[in-house]
Amino acid sequence: MKTFCGRANPTTGAMEWLEEDENYDYHQEIARSRYADMLHDKDRNMKYYQGIRAAVSRVKDRGEKAIVLDIGTGTGLLSMMAASAGADFCYAIEVFKPMANAAVKIVEKNGFCDKIKVINKHSTEVTVGPDGDMQCRANILVTELFDTELIGEGALPTYEHAHKYLVQEGCEAVPHRATVYVQLVESKRMWSWNKLFPVRVEAEDGEKIVVSPSEMENCPGVPSVCDIQLNQMPSSDFTILSDVVTMFSVDFSKPVRSASTYYRVQLEPVKSGKAQIVLSWWDIDMDPSGTINCTMAPYWVKSTSAFQWRDHWMQCVYFLPNEEPVLQGEKVYLTACRDEYSVWYKLQKVREDSNADVCVESPVCRCQAHLLWNRPRFGELNDQNRTRQYIKSLMNVLRTDSVCLCISDGSLLPVLAHYLGAKQVFTLENSAVSRSVMEKFFKANHLEDKIKIVEARPESLTSSHLEDNKISVLVGEPFFTTSLLPWHNLYFWYARTAVSKHLASNVTVLPQSASLHMMIVEFQDLWRIRSPCGICEGFDVRTMDDMIKSSLDFRESKEAEPHPLWEYPCKSLSDPLEVLIFDFRETVPQHCLSTEGSVNLLRKGKSHGAVLWMEYNLTADISVSTGLMQISNEKGNCEWNPHCKQAVYFFSSVIESETLADLPSAVTYAINFDTKTGDIAMDFKLL
Ligand code: SAH
Ligand code: ZN
Repeated sequence: MKTFCGRANPTTGAMEWLEEDENYDYHQEIARSRYADMLHDKDRNMKYYQGIRAAVSRVKDRGEKAIVLDIGTGTGLLSMMAASAGADFCYAIEVFKPMANAAVKIVEKNGFCDKIKVINKHSTEVTVGPDGDMQCRANILVTELFDTELIGEGALPTYEHAHKYLVQEGCEAVPHRATVYVQLVESKRMWSWNKLFPVRVEAEDGEKIVVSPSEMENCPGVPSVCDIQLNQMPSSDFTILSDVVTMFSVDFSKPVRSASTYYRVQLEPVKSGKAQIVLSWWDIDMDPSGTINCTMAPYWVKSTSAFQWRDHWMQCVYFLPNEEPVLQGEKVYLTACRDEYSVWYKLQKVREDSNADVCVESPVCRCQAHLLWNRPRFGELNDQNRTRQYIKSLMNVLRTDSVCLCISDGSLLPVLAHYLGAKQVFTLENSAVSRSVMEKFFKANHLEDKIKIVEARPESLTSSHLEDNKISVLVGEPFFTTSLLPWHNLYFWYARTAVSKHLASNVTVLPQSASLHMMIVEFQDLWRIRSPCGICEGFDVRTMDDMIKSSLDFRESKEAEPHPLWEYPCKSLSDPLEVLIFDFRETVPQHCLSTEGSVNLLRKGKSHGAVLWMEYNLTADISVSTGLMQISNEKGNCEWNPHCKQAVYFFSSVIESETLADLPSAVTYAINFDTKTGDIAMDFKLL
């Protein structure tokens, strides 16, 4: 069956109707899933296996039959471990149908049909009894239902239900226990992901400071977890204010309560500073004694953690509602509140009456800015170096009679343009949220009469919107909230084309052009997410590899994927190369833009893929990069713009082959930008 889905094309802005295969979502799910990453997580797999073996032995030593309940079996891996460890029978529950099907195949292929029953249900739908899904309650409970925040995937309600209905009292659980740790830190860098800092503008008539409305300053932000590869955060980017403390733990072998609750600890700051951020991670003990432990502790807590790369479990960054000064040695109370699925924090100076403040609400954005700007976007807006480039280039192009139109979502450019002397400033905001945020923002800076918000799409802009002015300076960062891949911001070019008739004949367009850059890289770890797993802990999981591959191939032409590369170290194997230029001074041409050529490989290494990013040439001599910032040493280690995602095109042939023999000496490329569809197609060959 085919269905039609309407959406705005992120690059061209055109409304299009896509014919979607009914399996589209399913393939997306598999292709983007973390199953491969979990199967590659050797540390996790080994420890689960050890924990499962120990639990089976404890049950057997008591003279009981070992009956296992594996909730969320995925590939069936943990059930196969249990069966190999001597379990008498395993019930493997999996709610996601394609995975349940895969589990059946994998279990069969590995010869465990008679020991493992795969049940395609949500665990809360599973029945027990002679005619039920399970003959009797299990005495070993095995699961891996954790996300970076531990409980975000619904582990608590699932455990609560399982203890009530599916397992025996006194059952063994693998993992046995999870513990959540926290550490209080000050970090301008991380704080800049949730609050807008004042922006300084050196104007002709003195320094102007752009401030955010108090509503924004006091807003706690959005409740969604901020999970990052904390191991990529250099220690110079934060100051530790407290020791690592245990916030709470959950014993999975006993009944679990999922209802909202809170936990409070007393902290004695080891340093005076501004408490802004709570860093958090967890570990799981696979056995009751805690000798088999799998931890997400970052590098400064556990020095070997850098070698245990995984992407399915990272670390959490929590933003306190407001920054609080703390003094070394002066105790404070940190409270973790949680509901069934998420955790949030607050800090208090004195011990408040424990009942009085239990109902702290989960953070909800009231100012709307946190809905308009996600965390990387806050970081980008707070990037002073970047702002300086825009200020410099605006100063170059603005005249006292300039009429300026800004096209970018939720941008500060209109404010900068006003302070730097434009006669008139208009800004196009076509979503209700961006209009409302910008209104509040202009008001807080007493600019509501100075900058006009036009609520229209570029193609429906009229002269009356512009009060019969012709635009002499058209500006954009460009940035649009609908962009996923770097080139989606070329929407600016389409918008520029749509507003052509409103532009003065001698209009200045800033940026004057954009260029697409490319570089061949070797990833330290990211390649794993695209590499087949083969045999995992002795079990053949190639069925899963095939499934992922066919889901990746399902997308007609292979595509690049967005990744924030500051979190994923890589080294450059080629020089960075400018491959395409998009001239914003002209309208979008009718014909395609294409290029081909080859790049030489300068360093030894595996060519895992090509990274692509955009650079914006604001004026003839001022550019900003959304990708490579620099190559920091002779080894080729790369530094990436920390606020942007770059596009990664994986070379599957390299990732799938195990040998490093016959290193290619060059890579040829062919890249085509279809101006009609806004798509960039690419093809690479290793020579
Ligand atoms: N056990 C596998 C896969 C873990 S991923 C391994 O360790 O490699 C978690 C899986 O649990 C996902 O496939 C998800 O679809 C499934 N799942 C999550 N909650 C579930 C529930 N309550 N009942 C059934 N399946 C669940
Ligand atoms: Zn907010």
